[in-house]
Amino acid sequence: MDRWSFWDFLFPPHCVSCARDGEWWCADCRSKVEKVRALVCPRCLKQGAHECRPVFPFASVMALGYYHDPFLRAVITNLKFNGTRVVMRDIEKFILSRKSELDEWRLPHDTVLVPVPLSEPRHRSRGFNQAELIAQAFQKSLWPEVKIQPVLAKVKNPDPQSSLGDDVILRQKNIQDCFQVIDDVPSHIILVDDVITTGATTAEAARLLLAHGAQEVRVLALALGA
Ligand SMILES: [Zn+2]
Repeated sequence: MDRWSFWDFLFPPHCVSCARDGEWWCADCRSKVEKVRALVCPRCLKQGAHECRPVFPFASVMALGYYHDPFLRAVITNLKFNGTRVVMRDIEKFILSRKSELDEWRLPHDTVLVPVPLSEPRHRSRGFNQAELIAQAFQKSLWPEVKIQPVLAKVKNPDPQSSLGDDVILRQKNIQDCFQVIDDVPSHIILVDDVITTGATTAEAARLLLAHGAQEVRVLALALGA
C-alpha cells in the first residue's frame, strides 16, 4: 500500500480533467496531451522556421505541452488555483511517459534544477510553490542524481504577469529587479516553472543567474504559451 491509500479511501480520486474515478489525472487524459510540435527557439521562443529576433538568454527551452491544451491546463490550474497537490503523483507519471523526449537533452553532470520562486506572501497564501513541486517531480521521475537548489528569492511582488496580457515588454518591466540571488550560483542550471508564457519572468531570472556566474541556463516547463 502506498502512502496515499488512506486518503484515497477518504477522498476517492477522480480526474481533474474528465472527472472519471480512479486517479486525480487519469492515464487517458495524460496520454492525450499534445506534444510540443517543434523545437522551441531559445532566443525568441518561436517554433518551426522563423525569423529570429533574439530577446532571451536561454541555452535551450523544453516544454511537455501547450497551456491551451485542455488536458494539461486542467491539471496545472487545479494544482495552482485549487491547491490540488494530490495531482503531483500523476504529473510524475506524465513526466515519466515523456522520458524519451527529455533523454535527448543531455545534461552536464553538474546540472542543478532551480525552481522559479514565488514572492513570500504568495508562497504563504498558496502554501507551496508549484515550480518547486514540478522540479521535484522531474527529479523523482527522471533525474534522481540532479540536485534542486533554490538559488533565487522573489523580493518584490509585482502585478501578476497574467494581468498584463501577452505584452513581453510590459511583462519585462513589471518583473525587473524582482529576484535576488540567495545562494551560490551553479554553472549549469535548469530553471523550472509550470508555464512559460512570454518568457519575461524566466528571462529576468536567467539574466540574474548569468550575471552571477552561471555558464548556461536552460528552461524547463510543463506547458508553453498562454
Ligand atoms: Zn481524465
